[in-house]
Amino acid sequence: MGKYVIAGNWKMNKTPAEATALIEAIKPLVKDAACDVVVGVPFIDIPAALEATKGSNIGVAAQNCYWEKSGAFTGEISADMLREMGVKYVILGHSERRTYFGDTDATVAKRVRGAIDAGLTAILCVGEYLEQREQGITAEICAMQTKIALEGVSEEELKQIIIAYEPVWAIGTGKTATAEQANEVCAQIRDVIAGLYNQAAADAVTIQYGGSMNAGNAAQLLAMSDVDGGLIGGASLKAEDFATIVAAAK
Ligand code: PEP
Repeated sequence: MGKYVIAGNWKMNKTPAEATALIEAIKPLVKDAACDVVVGVPFIDIPAALEATKGSNIGVAAQNCYWEKSGAFTGEISADMLREMGVKYVILGHSERRTYFGDTDATVAKRVRGAIDAGLTAILCVGEYLEQREQGITAEICAMQTKIALEGVSEEELKQIIIAYEPVWAIGTGKTATAEQANEVCAQIRDVIAGLYNQAAADAVTIQYGGSMNAGNAAQLLAMSDVDGGLIGGASLKAEDFATIVAAAK
């Protein structure tokens, strides 16, 4: 299916000095990776991360961006600012942003547009809450989030999109979706993409699974037909564990 991408989401962890140390530890362990490797770092760590990853096979992601290019938006960071620094990816619509910081499907869509226009690759997170899974509406929730975020995104621009299926109940909880559950929803999202665009575009898009993926369960999840990589939180903060996950993505 899509190209394999393993991305770490460091969340609000690591100072710049700690970021450098972690990347220096990761670098030799992933240098022969068969997949794309990304570290998603706090804004303040971006210069250190870009410096530490220079000349390596590791890309740097921000964890959010604002949709306007510039202006009176105190505290915000634009996609253009990230791009000029050398950032290649931006994580958008993470459930923690949706739950704690008021992101909605509509604002996620604007952020996606801003990221695309700036030439970034957006890692677009979608996923259901536990109650929604229990109500049997996981497919509908993920389809809706995907469709709203991709409104106005052309087939060409879709090449700048990675989708991360992240069931909210599995994030940071140690509760992983089974490989079958992860694959089922990733396949449903791929069908949504086929409906919006066409089958070739759907086959080419990278769809990651995220939610307590770790060194022990990565191989099984990544072996599934519709899982093209992972968005990794906790386990991305340990160099060996992250490298084990990267090695499992073949
Ligand atoms: C995440 O934050 O995207 C994530 C998947 O976290 P964790 O791996 O810790 O569940």
